[in-house]
Amino acid sequence: MLRNGMQFLEGLVDGRRVYYRGELVSDVTRHPILQVPARHSALLFDLHFDSDLQAHLVTTDDTGEPISTLYRSPTSTEDLLRRSRLIEATTHRSRGVFNIGKVIGSDALFALHIVTAALDRARGTDYRRRVFEYHRHVAHGDRAVSVAQTDVKGDRALRPHQQADPDLYVRIRARRSDGIVVRGAKAHITQAQVADELIVLPCRSLSPEDVDYAVAFAVPANAPGITMVTRPMIELEGARHPLEGPRVRHNTLTEALVVFDDVFVPWERVFLAGETEYASRLALTFALWHRFSAISYRAAQADLMAALAREVAEANGIADKSHIRRNLVELILLAEVQRMAAHLAAYRCHADPATGLVYPDSLCVNLGKLYSNTHYLSATQAFIDCAGGLAATAPSGDDWAHPDLRPVIEKYLTGRATVAGERRFRLFLLARELVGLLGGYENVTMVHAEGSIEASVIEILRGYDFSAGRRLVEELLED
Ligand SMILES: Cc1cc2nc3c(=O)[nH]c(=O)nc-3n(C[C@H](O)[C@H](O)[C@H](O)COP(=O)(O)OP(=O)(O)OC[C@H]3O[C@@H](n4cnc5c(N)ncnc54)[C@H](O)[C@@H]3O)c2cc1C
Repeated sequence: MLRNGMQFLEGLVDGRRVYYRGELVSDVTRHPILQVPARHSALLFDLHFDSDLQAHLVTTDDTGEPISTLYRSPTSTEDLLRRSRLIEATTHRSRGVFNIGKVIGSDALFALHIVTAALDRARGTDYRRRVFEYHRHVAHGDRAVSVAQTDVKGDRALRPHQQADPDLYVRIRARRSDGIVVRGAKAHITQAQVADELIVLPCRSLSPEDVDYAVAFAVPANAPGITMVTRPMIELEGARHPLEGPRVRHNTLTEALVVFDDVFVPWERVFLAGETEYASRLALTFALWHRFSAISYRAAQADLMAALAREVAEANGIADKSHIRRNLVELILLAEVQRMAAHLAAYRCHADPATGLVYPDSLCVNLGKLYSNTHYLSATQAFIDCAGGLAATAPSGDDWAHPDLRPVIEKYLTGRATVAGERRFRLFLLARELVGLLGGYENVTMVHAEGSIEASVIEILRGYDFSAGRRLVEELLED
């Protein structure tokens, strides 16, 4: 059954163990800061009942049950294109912030289908049936799922079993007749504290000695033994912009350090348990799906930056100047390279015969992601160049609201005569919100979220076909 935002929020009051700034939070939906990312996730549920999006966001599964389209396994290029456009559309409707709730979980499910099918075939195991059952549980129950892949990793030069502390990668601590007991911690887990469930995946290739670290499973977010330490939301705590505040504040994401302290997982929810040679494949297949989602939401985010830069430049009267035009093109490139990469990845998709799924092309996906990894900072520079210093130094919405100050601000912070002073002022508050307060966070996100730069470099070199060029080289050498 599809739930609305309110039903989703009610489900989060379940005794989960969440800390914010050293305090145990009894209800993440009422906490003054954490209610903001909770409401952001709730919006995705409400969008399923939205007149513009409902037809795209709601479908039925093979049992005829209505489910979120995001949980439907893609089986064609068109499905992949639809998925990419949906992620863009929900990002736009979430005021430029990725609404990850059902996206990342389905990314993980698609990867689990593909890898467990291969594993079952090779080893005679029963993992794919469990993935099917769990997929149905998530889709029918309309659950928000976070994915905990990135281990805390300790010394990056050492393998999991070589670490001084064995808990620096999530591991199986005990195997029981009814399930496994896991221990360890995953870092940076987006929206974990407002997810219904967590899917846990390995994050790297493993050697036979790492057998206890080859583990994938799903647990409810309130499972005994799970503690989440949510990052501080400085950008909200320090911001008071009454002009645009309440609307902007509904849309934001948080990450958490998720600690698994001897968490029990029944076998039905275990999808990998010791098969080290499949850890890397699972990690990479999830990364591929999730990077496809990433370049889709990043295109929508870049649309916002490009349009805001243009509006600010208009308000300043310099939109037609040559360097501003180049800046705008830099921002358009960020949006369109992501979009082209996502669409081409869908057109060049590959079929997985064992599952019937199609998956996006890795080379295209990683090229798109690498582009935003390496061009977001220069695109931000282009934006700031268009905007000028007021993007940092504009007075506050409180000053604007003051009856004596407002006329002064309106008179002196005016730009082009055809653009109303209030509009220009609002544009700058939004610019400060976007590249100032959220900008520091986004700088890190754009470089590391969905995998670091090097992770995409490796995949691009693995995926690019040198053969045609090499033949040409040989031909030319023979002449
Ligand atoms: C905003 C945000 C949201 C995120 N959301 C999620 C999420 O929901 N779920 C999730 O699982 N993860 C999430 N991540 C994690 C993200 O995937 C990682 O940050 C990324 O993979 C980099 O890992 P790291 O942060 O541990 O950095 P590190 O791996 O420490 O990387 C730092 C540098 O060290 C290099 N490096 C690391 N190991 C080696 C090595 N062995 N040899 C050579 N160089 C090495 C890297 O290439 C990089 O240059 C998120 C991250 C961010 C910033």
